[in-house]
Parts: sequence; structure tokens; C-alpha cells
Amino acid sequence: MDISGICITRQSTLRDALDMLDRGGLGVILLVSGNRQFERTVTDGDLRRLLLEGASLDQTLAIISERRSIVVPENRTRRDALELMQKHTIDHLPVVDGSGRVVDLVERRGIDDQILLSTPHMGDAERDFVDEAFRTNWIAPLGPNVDAFEHELAEMVGAGHAVALSSGTAAIHLALVLLDVGPGDVVFCSSLTFAASVNPIAYQGGEPVLIDSEPESWNMSPAALERALEDARRKGKLPKAVIVVNLYGQSADMDPIAALCERYGVTLVEDAAESLGAKYKGRASGTFGRIGIYSFNGNKIITTSGGGMLVTEEKAFADRARFLATQARDPAPHYQHSTIGYNYRMSNILAGVGRGQLKVLEQRVEARREVYRRYCAAFAGVAWLEMMPEPDWSFSTHWISACTIARDSRIDAAAMIQRLSAEFIEARPVWKPMQLQPVFAQCAYFPHGNQSVSEDLFNRGICLPSGSNMSTEQIERVAETVLKIGQ
Ligand SMILES: *Cc1c(COP(=O)(O)O)cnc(C)c1O
Repeated sequence: MDISGICITRQSTLRDALDMLDRGGLGVILLVSGNRQFERTVTDGDLRRLLLEGASLDQTLAIISERRSIVVPENRTRRDALELMQKHTIDHLPVVDGSGRVVDLVERRGIDDQILLSTPHMGDAERDFVDEAFRTNWIAPLGPNVDAFEHELAEMVGAGHAVALSSGTAAIHLALVLLDVGPGDVVFCSSLTFAASVNPIAYQGGEPVLIDSEPESWNMSPAALERALEDARRKGKLPKAVIVVNLYGQSADMDPIAALCERYGVTLVEDAAESLGAKYKGRASGTFGRIGIYSFNGNKIITTSGGGMLVTEEKAFADRARFLATQARDPAPHYQHSTIGYNYRMSNILAGVGRGQLKVLEQRVEARREVYRRYCAAFAGVAWLEMMPEPDWSFSTHWISACTIARDSRIDAAAMIQRLSAEFIEARPVWKPMQLQPVFAQCAYFPHGNQSVSEDLFNRGICLPSGSNMSTEQIERVAETVLKIGQ
């Protein structure tokens, strides 16, 4: 902020001070000596008291008492500053340099601007679809928004069929039910992912086998997958399915992975919860498996507050998924069930939100890619920080802009995340790999090579704020703060 308009000296009159307060509009001005040495703050209240005590408007500020002010030295964090302001119930803090000259005045609302990792970003149409559902009393699950959302999403990604569900996790679970995964069955899954990719294997009593990442895309390593498949073949126990995860908006290297699955006769399931809108060699992420799934959880690139979608080319799968997701009711006039069902369908209200969000998906993708591009530019000359790579076959949405900190750098990822938090910037570690999770520690794990890539990414990785609703100033504040902390 330009502070020349709010700095005043003891030679000025009370009238000058009131005038300056009025023009500044902040409710506070700064009393400084000749070369802008900071002395104290002066508020409306201070001047009012002087006048009530009998001072005249033409007297100078020489009469104002000395007072120690709350000052934030520049090396303090935003959190320190905010705590001070809350403690003393003040809205403005002068900042002084090493020689006591005032250089800035920070406002409370400028300080407590929290930059979050990824927040929902609604468009203009969501409310209309939801209102329509209210107007027509289609509040129940199912209804026209559900059907339309399914059609619109299927069309957008080029899938034959889409089934709207209550969550991405439900979609993965139903995929495994459709593929008849049962107790004792082996299912392979990417190890560097969110637990929701693997949990449904356990719901079915299956046995997860975890496959490491490759450094090029951070996604499933074809080399590790091949060793795992060969090992399984030798043991005579091939997996029922391979769940390949597309991390942070980027597709895995599908050609070699699909070729391996084909060679071993294993079904591919694609967990595209994080990669709606991404492409692999021009084709929509999520359409490479026999079944693919998307998530519309609150932090994903588009959201219905909670929801998921299952996509497939096979009508029989889609029909079966709808049947199982609505409690598996047999076509009979009475309530009859010959199989175990689930309550996994998306509601007509939430599908309305989804239809609106789908209309702005492309814009959201472009905005997130722009966040990534700005980070790349800001960190271009920096040796100790590397952005998540984007191979030439990938069109990533950069749902999350992730990076790694070099092993020999001044600060590690965990400390960086903590320091960013003190500056009100929400950064997170990269997913903790499943083989390191207590609940999956006993699962077989196939690393990429001699090195466990997922563990290395976990140790060195940081997810930076990536929301499509971030302002340019916020992106720059993140980049500058990262550089300041790490340099
Ligand atoms: C979010 C997510 C899920 C689960 O989706 P929900 O809709 O939250 O159930 C599954 N897999 C991955 C990789 C995810 O990021």
C-alpha cells in the first residue's frame, strides 16, 4: 500500500490530522518523524479525546502523548501478525524496516486471506437446474437431471454409458461387484493414491496388490505392473482386475498398461476420480478401462458436493450398476430381492448441480492449467523445486499442481508445508502411498525398480493451492512465499 498519504508529523495540526484520516478512510494514520521513523498510530478516537480535553483544531500534534504501538517486524508470519491483531482487537498494523522507518500498513482482511488447496467453484447454471428440480418436486433420487447428467457426461467423454452414483468410492465398489470380485480374489491397484481407490477391494473381501508409480507421470509403472503380473502368473493367481489411478488430473501411460492387461487377460478399471477433463493421446481420461469412474467430491475439479459416475461401453454393465445401486429390487409388484443391493444412486438435486458444473468443465480445466503454468514460470530457474512432469502424451487438467523438493535443498517438504500454513497457504503432502498405510501394510507391493518411486514422491512432494477460482495475485503470493521460504 502507498503509505505517503497516511503519514503525518508532529508539526501538522489536529485539523490536518482529521483531514488525513478522512481522506485515508482507514480509521488510522501514522505519526512519523522527519525521515519517516515510525512513532505511533493516531486514530479518530485519539483526536476526539484531545478535542474533548480542550485542544483546538489549530494546535499541532506536538501535544499528542507518546505511546508504544504494536508493530510486526517483517520476518514474522501472517499467523503471528493475525494473532497480535486479534489479541489487541486492532484492524491495521504498521510494518517497519530495520531502521524503524515505516514501510507498510497491513489490514486485517489482507492478512487473513487464506489460500486453500482446492475449493468448489460454481458456475451460473447449477442453481437453475436445482430450482427446476424443486419446482417440479423432483427431490427424490432419480429424475430428469440424473438421466440428463448421465447422457451429457457420457457424450462429453465419449463413453457408451454413464451411471450417476453417490460417490466415486461407490462407483469403484460397484465396478468390482460387476467384475465379480469376491473373497480371496486378487486386485492390483496403483499404490500412490487416495485410500478410496483400494478400500472397495477390501469391501469385497479381495486382496489388494499395490503397484508403484513411474517418475515420468507419477502414475502406475508399466515395469512394476509387468513384474507383478508375471509373478501372479507364475503363482497361478492372476488378478481379477487392475485399478489404474490417474493422479492429480494426469492420465497414466495407458498404452503399455492396457497392452499388459490384454496380454495377461486381466480386466482394466480406471480410477479417473481426479482426471475428468484430462486426455491421453487425445482420448478422454476414464474411457480406457472396461469400467471407468469419476468423482464429484467437493475438492475435485467439478463437484456435486458429493457424487460419482461409472462409465462403460457395455450396456449390460450399466444396467446392472443401476439395478445394484437402487437396492437390487427384482421386477416384481412386491419388494423382492434375489441379490444384495446398495443405496448408491445420485439424487436428482445433486445431478442438477452436476449438469451446471459440466457446462463449465472446460473453463475449469483451462483455469487449473493456467495455475500450473504460472507456477512453472515462477519456478523456472529454481534448481531445488520441480513441478510434476507432464509427458508429451498427456493433457493434464492439473487438478492439483504438485511439485517436489530436491533431496539436498535447505528445507524439506514437510517443513515447507508447515511454513506455508503459517502464511495462510494450504499445501498438502502428496498422497501417502498405500504400502505405507497401517491398514494395507501386509499387502504385496511391486516397486518401479530398485527405488520406490511413490515413497520418494511422498517424501519430497507438495500439493500447492490449485483452485480454478484463485486470483492471479493469490497464485503469485503462493509462488513468492514458496521461493522466500525455500531460498
Ligand atoms: C476422490 C477420490 C476417490 C473417491 O471419490 P469420492 O467421490 O470422494 O468417493 C477415489 N479415488 C481417487 C484417486 C480420489 O482422488
